[in-house]
Amino acid sequence: MPAITMDQIVSLCKRRGFIFPGSDIYGGLQGTYDYGPLGVELKNNLKAAWWRANVYERDDMEGLDAAILMNRLVWKYSGHEETFVDPLVDCMVCKGRFRADRLKDARCLLHANKRPGECEGTFTEPRPFNMMFQTQIGPVADSDSFAYLRPETAQGIFVNFANVLATTSRKLPFGIAQIGKAFRNEINPRNFIFRVREFEQMEIEYFVKPGEEDAWHQRWLDDRLAWWRSLGLHSDNLQVYNTPADELAHYSKATFDLMYRFPIGFEELEGIASRTDYDLGSHSKDQERMQIMARVNPNADSTERLTYFDQESGQHIVPFVIEPSAGVDRGVLALLTEAYDEQQIKELKPERQQAVTDALDAFLKSVDRNDKLPAEQRDEVLAYGAAIRRDLPASLPQVQALIDMPGARGIELSKKLRGQADPAIDESFRTVLHLKPSLAPIKVAVLPLKRNQDEIVAIARQIRKDLQADGTMRTIYDDTGAIGRLYRRQDEIGTPFCVTVDFDTLGQGKDVTLKDTVTVRDRDSMQQERVPIGELQAYLKAKIV
Ligand code: ATP
Repeated sequence: MPAITMDQIVSLCKRRGFIFPGSDIYGGLQGTYDYGPLGVELKNNLKAAWWRANVYERDDMEGLDAAILMNRLVWKYSGHEETFVDPLVDCMVCKGRFRADRLKDARCLLHANKRPGECEGTFTEPRPFNMMFQTQIGPVADSDSFAYLRPETAQGIFVNFANVLATTSRKLPFGIAQIGKAFRNEINPRNFIFRVREFEQMEIEYFVKPGEEDAWHQRWLDDRLAWWRSLGLHSDNLQVYNTPADELAHYSKATFDLMYRFPIGFEELEGIASRTDYDLGSHSKDQERMQIMARVNPNADSTERLTYFDQESGQHIVPFVIEPSAGVDRGVLALLTEAYDEQQIKELKPERQQAVTDALDAFLKSVDRNDKLPAEQRDEVLAYGAAIRRDLPASLPQVQALIDMPGARGIELSKKLRGQADPAIDESFRTVLHLKPSLAPIKVAVLPLKRNQDEIVAIARQIRKDLQADGTMRTIYDDTGAIGRLYRRQDEIGTPFCVTVDFDTLGQGKDVTLKDTVTVRDRDSMQQERVPIGELQAYLKAKIV
């Protein structure tokens, strides 16, 4: 089941240490997020899976890690200085600045429930706004020290084309893969980690002979779709948008946008562009001596001809490029969205439900009356609260997300609501992240049934150490609560297996044949199995795929 709202994902991420708003203790910095202890694991697992599939498991790929800071000329000849722009409009009434082609994602500054343009405001004419961040290299600020933070990783690959070719002797077709940070001064960063100003990309530039690009474009689309599916994204939640000619970027012959059903609707997760010979041609010297098909700006600064010697024809050719470019952060968001599930596992007692309903009503009334809250925040809390109220008890776990919303934080009655909701949620619900085991931040949690029983604790700690030993299975030890509660906590962060050490393990239970065995609990089915300690490592490894 996909997540119902972005607020649920945001709340879980903050509550459990996946992702925090950037610079939070100083009031934040718009468009930036920090990955916490679990988030960094999930993100690393996603990147490792991509690298494995696209570099190690293919025999036509090389890897690269280019610098973020590059010579300004890279961005001149790539076309970014001229064309990496979004249309910016100002509203004459509320003074808000908006991206003209993305008004649906923005809110009027005076009327929180309206999009810009739905109010009485009028806009200035759209003007181009360049999204590259500017910085200065070295202690002297002059035109020579001027630089950009890269807005994509791709250019690092193109300017290294000759280096990679010379050092690897690759034959066409082949590709270069890179994962790294990119920076864009987005006009309206929004929707959690979906649109941010600092993010990571996983990009491939795949070089082919001219004439072979259409077939490779299709192959890459199929490959990339299959890969996202193999990570657990359901086909129903994936769509391909074949970009119409009038929407194509200047370098693109055709572009497939791979769209995922995020909580905000279907939006781009990855772009797969057929870029012709634009990039290698643009960065080459002696362009007039090469047969470049794309329209490129004359290059007076490059020291290289970015060509490939084709033995068959005996000619130097400029390869065409297919570029599958995915966002790591959007990938993390898609995985969380897909994995998120709330399950009612026990009937809620009527008196408990009534108590939560009363506390929710009182809380919403207090929000409604609070005139210190910004209108946008108040409206959002009220709308979400009303939706939860309509769908109780199934929506009860969402009360946690409601209380975590910016507009709810200072409301005194939120504490009372939490006091009523938390025990009811604990008793009757579980939140589960059905992450593919290999992507889960923690693979195994080892739990002692009793934390003050020395023998049980010693065995549990040793099991944790042994499982973690070869570095492939992140394993933790947790004795901070009753076993049911610990299971629930691990479910919520997607840990596929919990291992419990109990009195049977010591041979002190009813069935002495269970000595030296432990209980392994499966996150998704909640089934438990008894496994000998000696077989545990192999048993778990076989299941963590
Ligand atoms: P959009 O149309 O959503 O602004 P784009 O078409 O400009 O995206 P590309 O330039 O194709 O994006 O970048 C490749 C990938 O990088 C995107 O598919 C997306 O996953 C990711 N990406 C781009 N911009 C951002 C951003 N501001 N925040 C997070 N991820 C981004």
